[in-house]
Amino acid sequence: MGTQLHMFLFPFMARGHMIPMVDMAKLLAARGVKVTVVTTPLNSIAISNSIHTSKSLSVSNIHLLILKFPTAEVGLPEGCENGDSVIAPAMFPKFISALNLLQTPFEEALMEHRPHCIVADILFPWVNDVAAKFGIPKLSFHGTCFFSFCAMEFVRIHQPYNHVSSDTEPFLIPHLPGEISFTKLKLPDFIREDIKSDVTDFLKTALESDSTSYGAIMNSFYELEAEYADCYRNVLGRKAWHIGPLSLCNQEIEEKSQRGKESAIDEHECLKWLDSKKPNSVVYVCFGSMTKFSSDQLKEIANGLEACGKDFIWVVRKVNGEDKEEDKKWLPEGFEQRMEGKGLIIRGWAPQVLILDHPAVGGFVTHSGWNSTLEGIAGGVPMVTWPVAGEQFYNEKLVTEVLRIGVGVGVEKWVRILGDFIKGEGVEKAIRRVMEGEEAEEMRNRVRELGEMARRAVLENGSSYSDLDALITELKLKFI
Ligand code: UDP
Repeated sequence: MGTQLHMFLFPFMARGHMIPMVDMAKLLAARGVKVTVVTTPLNSIAISNSIHTSKSLSVSNIHLLILKFPTAEVGLPEGCENGDSVIAPAMFPKFISALNLLQTPFEEALMEHRPHCIVADILFPWVNDVAAKFGIPKLSFHGTCFFSFCAMEFVRIHQPYNHVSSDTEPFLIPHLPGEISFTKLKLPDFIREDIKSDVTDFLKTALESDSTSYGAIMNSFYELEAEYADCYRNVLGRKAWHIGPLSLCNQEIEEKSQRGKESAIDEHECLKWLDSKKPNSVVYVCFGSMTKFSSDQLKEIANGLEACGKDFIWVVRKVNGEDKEEDKKWLPEGFEQRMEGKGLIIRGWAPQVLILDHPAVGGFVTHSGWNSTLEGIAGGVPMVTWPVAGEQFYNEKLVTEVLRIGVGVGVEKWVRILGDFIKGEGVEKAIRRVMEGEEAEEMRNRVRELGEMARRAVLENGSSYSDLDALITELKLKFI
């Protein structure tokens, strides 16, 4: 028996980044790797909960290493350790300063534990220098897919948006297969050279330094986006291992419902509600962990849901929290009474994977975050894409134009947290397109097939299973 491979996993403190990395920890542990997840006190609670819902004995290979989050040092309120509590724009720079201050304790932890490899979120660019200093290989986790990462890099490097005369004039993304066009309005503010946001420098450094990593671990599977996986490796010229969909490592009801945060609804109650519905009859509406729509936008969504006449589960996170009194500002009068039995509103956190995997769910209105998109694909559910920020407008392109498993709701503008504005009629129309008629049937067939491919990819000898094997073998051969 050789020495056990030991990997440090360092997830960025936001749900959409922590959730897949905790799944990654479980997957690596199941292959006999010793995993140390490095995080901060409050985030460790959610991570520990998700690890311990697993019945697999291999989770004993997972350890938590807790670094104090320097909230006081940077002037953040106590308890503000996660991206989802960084709401006011003025808090962003402070949060970034706090992340940078983690470098010294991280180095001390490395010195003490001497792992063979580090997997760190792309949003910790300083880990590259630290890893080089200690002679440890560092793998990146981007939290997105090959398609969107390539698109983002080609746009960043070649700046094709400088050759259009308006924010709405389309330009082609250079080097990206498939003639994908885009507009300036859909670009993240941190990419554009002509505007500067409070996080521009931070995100630019992260993207620029990424090419010096040993490689990247992708939450995707080869069959989903083969052309783009090849493009990443051959055109961008970087190493990558695709090991997803990571969410599929959760098999049991408890595991699926305790990912990231405690659900605001009892999972059995939720399943009972879904069990009472016909196959493909329910639309699931959720915009991830960061988006917080205005009351006016929520009202339009309510109107759209009522007008389309479908049963629905709608997850609501509002600008001013989950205060019930606030409901009056955004719920159309009598909405909940009229929708009784037809619609379920979840105020807070939903057991998303459990819902998407249920046969009653026939459509997913999503902000197109990569985790949600891939979970929708794994569940075989066609999507209404409603990108808000991040790289979500690229993910929308993959879903609607390349894979053709969804339709866009019609948003045109990248707006962090709050999103572009869509009227109720637009919501109704898009939901009907993914739930009714021939076009919907074709999308459903395609996404179902992809869902089956996803399941095969993570089984023994599947493409993701084998790529994880290849990664572990390479690390063992070279670095133990
Ligand atoms: N999620 C969940 N319940 C919710 C909202 C989100 O379980 O009510 C999970 C979802 O399944 C996904 C993650 O949170 O795994 C969100 O990641 P994504 O990349 O889709 O979006 P982000 O939150 O990063 O914008």
